[in-house]
Amino acid sequence: AAARATPRIAMTAPTLQEIASCVSGYDPNALPVAQAQEFIARLVPRIEAVEMLALRSSLGRVLARDIVCAINVPANDNSAMDGYALRGSELRAAAATTLQAIGTGFAGQRFEGAVQPGQCVRIMTGAVMPAGLDTVVPQEFVTADGAGITIPANVVRAGDNRRLAGEDLAAGEVALAAGRIVSPADLGLLASLGQAEVPVRRRLRVAFFSTGDELRSIGEPLDAGCVYDSNRYTLWGMLQRLGVEVLDFGVVRDEPVALEAAFRAAARAADAVITSGGVSVGEADHTKQVMAKVGDVLFWRIAMRPGRPMAIGRIGGNNEGAHSSILFGLPGNPVAVMVTFYAFVRDALLTMSGATPKPLPMLRAASTAAIRKKPGRTEYQRGIVTRNSSGHWQVEITGSQGSGILRSMSQANGLVVLHHEQGDVAVGDLVDVLPFEGLI
Ligand code: AMP
Ligand code: MG
Repeated sequence: AAARATPRIAMTAPTLQEIASCVSGYDPNALPVAQAQEFIARLVPRIEAVEMLALRSSLGRVLARDIVCAINVPANDNSAMDGYALRGSELRAAAATTLQAIGTGFAGQRFEGAVQPGQCVRIMTGAVMPAGLDTVVPQEFVTADGAGITIPANVVRAGDNRRLAGEDLAAGEVALAAGRIVSPADLGLLASLGQAEVPVRRRLRVAFFSTGDELRSIGEPLDAGCVYDSNRYTLWGMLQRLGVEVLDFGVVRDEPVALEAAFRAAARAADAVITSGGVSVGEADHTKQVMAKVGDVLFWRIAMRPGRPMAIGRIGGNNEGAHSSILFGLPGNPVAVMVTFYAFVRDALLTMSGATPKPLPMLRAASTAAIRKKPGRTEYQRGIVTRNSSGHWQVEITGSQGSGILRSMSQANGLVVLHHEQGDVAVGDLVDVLPFEGLI
C-alpha cells in the first residue's frame, strides 16, 4: 500500500469547480494558456514522502528539507596563495618591508609556533593562517635572502589573499532550500559540509498510455489505415529527462471495458496519469466518457496552437480512501503532445515532485521571416535558433507547422512562443524562443 497512495489528496482538497472559481477569466471553451497553467498549479498536490539517499544518488532529486550548515566552510581562516603570511599592520606604506621567515605552514597542518613582531611564516595555499597573522603576500612578489624576505611597497594590502572561515558557508545558515533539484554544484556543496546522506522526496510515479484504434505498437504489422504509436516514446523521453518513475501502460483499445480498466490500474499505480488522444470535440471514441466515469475530469479547449483539446482532473479516488491521481489527457497529435507537455505537464509534475518550478529562460531572437499570428491564442512554432554574422540570435521557423509533423520538433532546437495577445510578426522582429537545451 505504501507503494501507491501518495500524493494524498486530502478530503479537504478543493473541487474542480472551486478551483475554477479562483481562476479569473476561466472559460473551459476558450481557456488562455496562463489560466490553464494557474488552474493546474492549484490542482496538483505535492508528494510528502521523504527518503534518505547517499549523496551521489541525490543528483537530480528534489530536496525535502532545508540543508542547514553544521560547520563553517572553510572551517578556518586560510591562505588563498602560496606565499608568506604576515601581519598587515607591519606593511610599510611607501617603502619595502623586510621580515624574518620562521617556518612553514602546510595545507592540512597547523603552524603551531608563536610569530613575533618582525616575523612571517612561509605558507601554502589552503594552510590555516598562523595565530595573529591576517595577510598573505604571494611568493612571486617577494625576494628571499637567507631567512629574510623583502616585500616591495604596494604589492599587497592588509587582509589580502586570506580566505575567512565561513566565507563560503557559515554554520547555521541555510545552504540549500527545500524544493531545490540537486545539481552537480550542490553535490559538491553538500560534500564540503561533510553531508553523507541527503533527504529527498520520493520519486514521482507517472503512468501513461495511448488511446486510438488506429495505433499499432512497434513490432506489430502496420495494418491498413494505421500508424505506429509514437507518443509513448516522446512521452517516455520527456518523463525520463524529468527524473520521474515512468510506467508504460501501452496502447489501449477504444473499448469501454479496456479503457476503464487501464485508467483504474494506472491511477492505482501512479501519482499522475498521462494519456494521449481521444479528447477533442466530436471524438467518436470512448475515451472521454470513460475519463468522466472514472474521475472528476474537465474537458478544455485551450486558446493555443498546437494542442487545443485537453482533459484535466482527478481519477481513481473513491470514498473508501483510495487516493486519486492527477489526469493529464493530452491531445493525440504528436507535436501537440510535446507542446502541451512543456506548456502544462512539466511544471505540474515538478510541483508534484516537491520542486519549486522556476520560469524557463527564454531567448529573444530576430525572426528571419514574417509569421502570421492571430491575437487571442498562444502559438508554439518550432524554430531553429542560430547566431547571425553579427553575433545576435536569429530564429528560422522549421518547414510545415502541422501538429502531426513530428519532424518539426526533431529539427528544431527551440519553440518560438507567440504570446496570447501578440499579432503578426514582421521580418527582423524579436520573438521569444524557449530553447530545448536545458528544458528538461
Ligand atoms: P485524436 O486526438 O485522438 O483525434 O488524434 C489526433 C491525431 O493524432 C490522429 O491523426 C491520430 O492518429 C494521431 N495520434 C493519436 N495518438 C497517437 C499516437 N500515440 N502516436 C501517433 N499518432 C497518434
Ligand atoms: Mg483518436
